[in-house]
Amino acid sequence: MASKIPEIIPNYIGGEFLPAKEGGKLDVVAPATGKIYAQLSNSSEADLALAIQAAESAQPAWADLKPEERAKYLFKIADLIDANIPEFANLESMDTGKAIRFVEDIEVPRAAANIRFYASAIIHFASESHAAGANVINFTRRDPLGVVACISPWNFPLHLLSWKIAPALAAGNVVIAKPSELSPLTAWRLSEICQEAGLPAGVLNILHGEGGGIGEALISHPRVKAISFTGGTATGRHIASVGAAKLKKVSLELGGKNPLIVFADANLEKAADAAIRAGFQNAGQICLCGSRLLIEQSIYDKFKALLLKRLETWNLGNPSERSTDQGAVISKAHREKILGYIDRAKADGAKILTGGKSYKPSADSQGFFVEPTLIEGLACENAINQEEVFGPVVSLQTFKTEPEALRIANSTKYGLSASIWTQDIGRASRMSKAIEAGIVWVNCWNVRDLRTPFGGVKESGMGREGGWESLRFFTEAKNICIQWEGQA
Ligand code: NAD
Repeated sequence: MASKIPEIIPNYIGGEFLPAKEGGKLDVVAPATGKIYAQLSNSSEADLALAIQAAESAQPAWADLKPEERAKYLFKIADLIDANIPEFANLESMDTGKAIRFVEDIEVPRAAANIRFYASAIIHFASESHAAGANVINFTRRDPLGVVACISPWNFPLHLLSWKIAPALAAGNVVIAKPSELSPLTAWRLSEICQEAGLPAGVLNILHGEGGGIGEALISHPRVKAISFTGGTATGRHIASVGAAKLKKVSLELGGKNPLIVFADANLEKAADAAIRAGFQNAGQICLCGSRLLIEQSIYDKFKALLLKRLETWNLGNPSERSTDQGAVISKAHREKILGYIDRAKADGAKILTGGKSYKPSADSQGFFVEPTLIEGLACENAINQEEVFGPVVSLQTFKTEPEALRIANSTKYGLSASIWTQDIGRASRMSKAIEAGIVWVNCWNVRDLRTPFGGVKESGMGREGGWESLRFFTEAKNICIQWEGQA
């Protein structure tokens, strides 16, 4: 049965739902209406102290369980998410302004799949033994780290939280998670589900509140052994410096300014479909979004026409309707930031091909919407082609040769992903190798396989998530060599 949203969304500490000890509260706003729908516990160091104590008490018994036994809890949690997909989707859509179709069909099922994936993976995550001669056993254990912090952003709240806590828990760690203060609802509902699944108290703790407050306290706490962070590059850089001072393990998944490169020999219809999804799904608030569209000069006009045609039927509006393609952006401040980039682009001489303004789905709407916007005419050094706008804004650039496409693609400080469209396998191979990115798609975009490494280079991150990478991050290797006298 669906849970009623509490007036004050509580923390989840030691298996209990608790308000912030010092009474801190934040308003939580629904982006599609601009209305406050609840308040959020704004945690402080007092709550963190409780969570550390609960986590440390739970850790030995959790780590001592056989992997199969830990996996059973995770499978149960995944099943309970699957059994409540419409509820999770409604909560996420209200909290973030996301179009419900994508949340219901992709993101919530993905969260369950993430958890199920690591429940199975841990069963196969074997220790290695090394042949070392007679009378010797030499083997490497992968032990859990202890208390770990999982900090997630607002753009895929449940999916990205599950992507961190699942490997951490599967590997035998205990977790203190800090979801974004802008989108806490599905993390709260997940904590209810963990309780229902019988997850032992203290194994997963969820502290809500501001990044600069409880987030900062969490990353700085001496008993937190590792920080798994997804969010903006500036925050990531700060977390890296705090982690470095205390020699904590840190994994950073950060921003992107990803190129989608279309060569003249590509299947242009398919490339245009992908470019629209890469540019405007989730209102462009995807780290992997294709916000820079590099198009070979000879097909530029033709390809531009294909994009504009598709946007004629792109539905911007009420996120709770299944026919909606694009809902609201996360906040008023974020809408103003996006519109500020568009104004600056115009002042720099850009031509707005479509969009470019805020939008009201109804006359009295107070929600935060931005039209899907295509821009052309700016050099690759311009801010709109260099900085992460994180909104429904795609800038078109042209190139004449493969080396020029590569130069433009590699011109930003980011290096998360790239999508290359060509029928020429040699070119696909050369470009994929030379592009500075952690993930390259050829003739597709955002096709994910949970076994593969996920992450960026340059200022897009440090380390990789996914597959064995996350399990390696959340464990410490210990090599043990035992030698004895006498018969082997
Ligand atoms: P953000 O950096 O503002 O916040 C992310 C999280 O960090 C939030 O929970 C926030 O409360 C917390 N935080 C903020 N300051 C902190 C501090 N000093 N100490 C500890 N925690 C702190 O990012 P955002 O605006 O929530 O998310 C958008 C960004 O995330 C974009 O740049 C996007 O590209 C990036 N992102 C990256 C990936 C990826 O996998 N590479 C995925 C999704 C989003």
